Amino acid sequence: MTTPCIICVAITGSLPTKANNPAVPITVDEQVESTHEAFEAGATIVHAHVRNDDQTPSSDPERFAALKEGIERHFPGMIIQFSTGGRSGAGRTRGAMLPLRPDMASLSVGSNNFPTRVYENPPDLVDWLAGEMLAHGVKPEIEAFDLSHILKARDMADKGQLAGTPYIQFVMGVRNAMPVDRDVFDYYIHTVKRLFGPETPWCAAGIGAHQLTLNEWAIGAGGHARTGLEDNVRLDRDRLAPGNAALVRRAVDICERHARPVASWQDARRILGLRLPDDCAQGHVA
Ligand SMILES: [Zn+2]
Repeated sequence: MTTPCIICVAITGSLPTKANNPAVPITVDEQVESTHEAFEAGATIVHAHVRNDDQTPSSDPERFAALKEGIERHFPGMIIQFSTGGRSGAGRTRGAMLPLRPDMASLSVGSNNFPTRVYENPPDLVDWLAGEMLAHGVKPEIEAFDLSHILKARDMADKGQLAGTPYIQFVMGVRNAMPVDRDVFDYYIHTVKRLFGPETPWCAAGIGAHQLTLNEWAIGAGGHARTGLEDNVRLDRDRLAPGNAALVRRAVDICERHARPVASWQDARRILGLRLPDDCAQGHVA
């Protein structure tokens, strides 16, 4: 297995606060610093939410713009992925930052339950978010909380709602959504390969202690891996993660055990079919 492994770091999320782990980056400056450390450790995609000063979730495009500018200035090349998830806003406010043209954005294509509520992704909103991504040259990462979401992505691709082949992420271990189940995981991979082709890249994320399990499974099966404090604030039962970089280093160690090289940002952009930063500066979209 020699395909380089892309490591995505989900730095902040909408839920964890400094009370859960003081290393969770909240301000834009903290986010840029934490992302930089994670990039140095081997992460090449940063998945980002933004927060208000009181740590509550935000979807303020100005904060997203400041974060994007800080990342691009300090370490151009890293792939910037903004969240359009539903915890930080409702309706179209979830996609208000897409005109900033990040490299990627997360896209949920169906609804499911979350621990204490319904994660609502009504069809008209999904269509609108996908249309905005298409209009602004933003590659979607499809968040597959369920098998039906993978088939929905195929349907959307057939209808021309997605540019190119979608990058699909399997999310497992969210309470009341899809549990961590190896047979389902293997069937997800089978389904992506059947519907999009055997070489189609895919990735996986696990929540809480399951983060390690999904890193192991994805890296071992030739996929790509997501880590970071959004999904998990601990190194193990007794220790908080000292930062996002420590979780990235844990994924790098797993890559070494599976003889997977860790993708450089150039590798990651090639695998995902993303424009290079120079083209980006000139306003070209691949
Ligand atoms: Zn997120």
